[in-house]
Amino acid sequence: MNGAIYIVGAGPGDPSLITVRGAEVLARADIVFFDRLVHPETLAYAPPTARRIYVGKSRGADPDAQANIHERMIAEARAGRVVVRLKGGDPFVFGRGGEEIQALAGAGAPFEIVPGVSAAVAAPAGAGISLSLRGVASAFGVFAAHSAAGGEIDWGLAARMPTAVFLMGVARLPELAARLIECGRAPSTPVAVIERATLPEERVVFGTLADIADRARGVESPATIVVGETVGVAASLGVRGRRFRVERETLSPTLIEAR
Ligand code: SAH
Repeated sequence: MNGAIYIVGAGPGDPSLITVRGAEVLARADIVFFDRLVHPETLAYAPPTARRIYVGKSRGADPDAQANIHERMIAEARAGRVVVRLKGGDPFVFGRGGEEIQALAGAGAPFEIVPGVSAAVAAPAGAGISLSLRGVASAFGVFAAHSAAGGEIDWGLAARMPTAVFLMGVARLPELAARLIECGRAPSTPVAVIERATLPEERVVFGTLADIADRARGVESPATIVVGETVGVAASLGVRGRRFRVERETLSPTLIEAR
């Protein structure tokens, strides 16, 4: 590989949920810029000699710090290095990947995008929730319940979604439930809160808009909130987690072993 910047989605948490392309690109990295939500073991796909640079603190607030990251990545790529920009989940789902490629394209820097499995889809999967479900939910929407991520939520729109997924919302859970009820969603609408999805510490709490704030007290970030009738179907199945009657290590993670 010649010098280029790879914008890579690391997946939702479990290091084995990165794509094959993502692991391949990491294995050839000279330098990796990674975010807060990237699992430390995901960095093990990179050679021991690759430089690892944590850039999580610049999250949102500081435009100078963000511009600084772009400049450093461009300079490294121009020097012929393989640069990996590693982001939690998918780079373009509330991950600022969109802003990064604007800067890279503007500067004429070569880059490749490697999509990742977003927490928006992986967290519901971890609770056995089908985001779309024939006859129950014909569409779903993903919202960032954190104003820094691009403005306040359109609560009316969120309330009309057959299935609504909220990221960065756990600190605002009581308000979130109240707003959806105000906008016409029934208080009996099923809700799930999935904390640390796909990781060994994963925790799933089921409830309704009326009682989820109480039930999920103590749940911490990162957590994903899912609202809609499809959540009720999952709750009634008794499926708890991605694996149903399958032991965790039935299939060994061959890519990790080969590493
Ligand atoms: N680009 C990322 C999302 C970044 S916003 C993606 O596509 O997944 C960060 C939010 O994602 C967190 O506040 C949380 O709501 C959600 N999230 C990330 N990892 C998670 C996990 N392991 N379990 C549950 N939610 C998670």
